[in-house]
Order: sequence, then C-alpha cells, then structure tokens
Amino acid sequence: MTTIAEGISAVSTALGIVKTLREIDRGVQEAEFKLQVANVTSALADAKVALVEAQEAARLQKEELEKLRSAVRYREEETIKVQGFLFRKQDDGPRGKAFCPVCSDEGRYIHLRIVPTKDGNVNKCPRCNSNYGWQVPEFTE
Ligand SMILES: [Zn+2]
Repeated sequence: MTTIAEGISAVSTALGIVKTLREIDRGVQEAEFKLQVANVTSALADAKVALVEAQEAARLQKEELEKLRSAVRYREEETIKVQGFLFRKQDDGPRGKAFCPVCSDEGRYIHLRIVPTKDGNVNKCPRCNSNYGWQVPEFTE
C-alpha cells in the first residue's frame, strides 16, 4: 500500500516537473520538444490514474481479507458443529438454529428457517435458498 501511495506521489512530482519544462524556451526544435512534453504528460497522467485505481483495488482486497479473517475467527471461537451443522456456541454447547452450511463456508452466518411445504416443514436458507429437509437439529436459545 505504501509503495502505491509513494508511486502516486512520485508521478505527481514528475507532472509538476514536466509543467516547468513546458515553460522553458528551447529555441531549436521547439515544436518537437513540446510534442514530447505533451506525450510525457499524457503518459504520466495515465500512470497516475492506474495507480489510483490500484490503490483502491488494494484497499478493497484488504477489507475483504479482514472480513474473511473475522469470519474465520468467529467460526473457530463462537460456533460448534453438531451433525454436520454449525451452531452458535454458548457455555461450550450449541444454541438456537443451525447456520446454513453453504453460506457459512463463504463467511456468512445465516440461520436456517423452517418453511412449510406441501410435504411438511423443511429447513431452508433465506439467503441462498438451500433446502436441508426436516432433519436438522435445533437447540434452545
Ligand atoms: Zn445459505
């Protein structure tokens, strides 16, 4: 991250220098000199935009990594697995409804809901709509 920020700063400095160069009276081949200065200015401006975008991408990746770390920490410290389903852990025992296994693998802890169907009640995830049937354990809150 620091390297990208330094890159942006360096490019900004270079753009300032080029602006100064543009004001120098070259006399001989002035048109060519000005054309090259324009090219360098354009290239540096493109580089700056790219660095700003890279910085934003890195920031978003860092946020995503922190979210995943937090989800992993939650899974390790705050949940317990019973019959293949994760539950919120309290006093070393499972509590409440199961979390959706599909969503919890993505770091999202969504409680299954009991949904009535024509074949009886089933446990479904309100987010991904996965159906886990009726044989899902449930514990008191
Ligand atoms: Zn789900």
